[in-house]
Amino acid sequence: MSEADDCLFCKIIAGQIPSSKVYEDDTTYAFNDINPKAKVHVLIVPKRHYANVAELAAADPAELAHIVDIAQRIADERFHGAFRLVFNTGLDAGQTVFHVHAHVLTGEVLDE
Ligand code: 5GP
Ligand code: ZN
Repeated sequence: MSEADDCLFCKIIAGQIPSSKVYEDDTTYAFNDINPKAKVHVLIVPKRHYANVAELAAADPAELAHIVDIAQRIADERFHGAFRLVFNTGLDAGQTVFHVHAHVLTGEVLDE
């Protein structure tokens, strides 16, 4: 069994676990965080499994740039273009799901 077989976000991407879809294309999926920390809190994930943003950047920098572009478009649609983009990387930084995901926080003025 590969790492991806037991991955929550791989299961969400495959439709095996329900999610509230925000955006999808051939390589990328975005859905609402189940425990939102802002008025708009979207998770953007590559469909291919990478453990964290450093692995993604090394293997497929174009996909990382694509994720940033999708975040910008969500913020343009939902909050005049301002957004916070967070990649928790590693257990001690608060990463709990080891399939790289961008947290996009927007939709309201954010605290510092
Ligand atoms: P991390 O702590 O790894 O940076 O972020 C994981 C995020 O995934 C958390 O913000 C958490 O609320 C979210 N999350 C965990 N399980 C689910 C789920 O089953 N569905 C959705 N939509 N979000 C989830
Ligand atoms: Zn995965």
